[in-house]
Amino acid sequence: MNQSVEERLCLACGFCCDGTLFTRVRLQSEDSVESLKSAELRVQQDDHGDWIMQQPCSGYRQDACQTYHCRPARCGLFRCTLLRYVEAEEVSEAEALSVIRDTKQTRNQLITELEKVFPGFQKKAMAEILHRLRKESRKLAGERLKLFRAARSTINQLKNKLSSQLDAFFYVQNTPFHDPAQNDGLNVPKSMNKQGDA
Ligand code: SF4
Ligand code: SF4
Repeated sequence: MNQSVEERLCLACGFCCDGTLFTRVRLQSEDSVESLKSAELRVQQDDHGDWIMQQPCSGYRQDACQTYHCRPARCGLFRCTLLRYVEAEEVSEAEALSVIRDTKQTRNQLITELEKVFPGFQKKAMAEILHRLRKESRKLAGERLKLFRAARSTINQLKNKLSSQLDAFFYVQNTPFHDPAQNDGLNVPKSMNKQGDA
């Protein structure tokens, strides 16, 4: 079966499913909590009683959504800035793939640096990783503090680079979905809901 450009890009990317962009997906009235639970997606109620699905999404495996048949409504609606650029023919497929590759490289380098000081980080959403970094870096002592001090400048550079890449090409700016109030001060939104077009 021939894949569309969009499918090829999303297969190469996965940022809106693997926790790079979002920490959760807010469920809608048309979503079936039971179906999502049976598909072993991590759904739960938040502090306000609203249903959410946590990210990294457990349905994202082998670089693709394995629960496409019952994915939440908002998953089908979200279109990142990069896809919009490609659709408008402002960015070619090759350029878009290169953006995805570069951004992935930055994210992976950041996680590798963080793993040296805070093992186990890579299983969380990026915003949670950065939140934990802020919290735990204050409590470090001894060898781990030394390790952190040595890595801090690289971590900050990578964090800023990733933030710029995500802002430029993936978060949809100037829409109700990009909420600077939820920024955690590290320029990566702390708790964004995966949402679609207005
Ligand atoms: S962030 Fe964009 S390119 Fe990446 S998987 Fe999501 S919609 Fe596709
Ligand atoms: S259900 Fe599918 S599309 Fe939605 S976040 Fe999970 S892997 Fe991505």
